[in-house]
Amino acid sequence: MTDNTTPGLVCGHHHLYSVLARGMPAPPMVPTTFQSILEQIWWRLDSALDLEMLEWSAKLGALEALESGTTAIVDHHESPNAIEGSLDVIARACEEVGVRVLTAYGVTDRNGSDGAERGLEENRRFIREGGNALVGIHAAFTCSDETLERAAGLARDLGVGVHIHVCEGPEDKAAAQRLRALTRPDWLLAHCVHLPSDHDLAGTILHNPRSNLNNSVGYAEPARFSNPVMLGTDGIGANMIESFRLAYVMQRSTNVTATPDTAWGWLEQGWELFPEARNDSVTWSYDPMDPWHIAFTPGIRPLRVVAGGEVLFDESGPTRVDAAEVRAKAREQATRLHAALA
Ligand SMILES: [Zn+2]
Repeated sequence: MTDNTTPGLVCGHHHLYSVLARGMPAPPMVPTTFQSILEQIWWRLDSALDLEMLEWSAKLGALEALESGTTAIVDHHESPNAIEGSLDVIARACEEVGVRVLTAYGVTDRNGSDGAERGLEENRRFIREGGNALVGIHAAFTCSDETLERAAGLARDLGVGVHIHVCEGPEDKAAAQRLRALTRPDWLLAHCVHLPSDHDLAGTILHNPRSNLNNSVGYAEPARFSNPVMLGTDGIGANMIESFRLAYVMQRSTNVTATPDTAWGWLEQGWELFPEARNDSVTWSYDPMDPWHIAFTPGIRPLRVVAGGEVLFDESGPTRVDAAEVRAKAREQATRLHAALA
């Protein structure tokens, strides 16, 4: 790419349900481990979500993606007290903004076997009805072997892959062993920070450098794996240029000979999952959009985004939705959500 345009960018791992978390009340206890970050923050937040909060969380997340030149999102969803229909809410919110989405409901046993059953059913129903999704699994360490096997079997039956968190923190170290017989090349393996280099898991590794730093879980060092690697944000926006710059400098921090071409390749990997995004066109505020330039240039922003032949974003903002209205409605729902968490 030697001018100021690129295809539409792809966020390889997002949580559209978490967009309203910003500014949430502090948890009852200060989390000191990855497990307690999940317990004190994310599992309290996802339990408090209803479908109305989810709608505006997803719409704001999709809007922010579009405003970052990201036209396709790989989403991983959980809302244990509002499971049924949740994947439709996410798909509709993205459709309203014009962003492509491949979602998944994260099956888990942490809310009992009934919760796992309902999660499996939401994946099955949504995909059978023609929805664009993978089967989601939260992570091996919150699932029994039986639940892992059922989710993997459902994905095989439906002809889709699985989207799962793998070895994000030390708590999930056993995942490599427990998933060995189940993974296939169409699986998406998020994080893999504590996954040994000589693992036998098949699938694409989703690298989320900002989230890993924020959770103090360590550096995944994705260049050590032979699997394909794709960049994500783990729910902290969908600015893939920022994610690329961070992925590059993290790699450089442990290997001074690393070049931006490797991290740019991880960004390009998104087009394997969303080939249609290759035909989307983003015009940027910077020229040339070359990895060596972008890695050292903060503040690059899109001026115009065209997807499927339609202008979705230009100098006056998004074309399908009113950005101010989306932000105002999202703020109202954030107030409800934060009150429920107080
Ligand atoms: Zn995640």
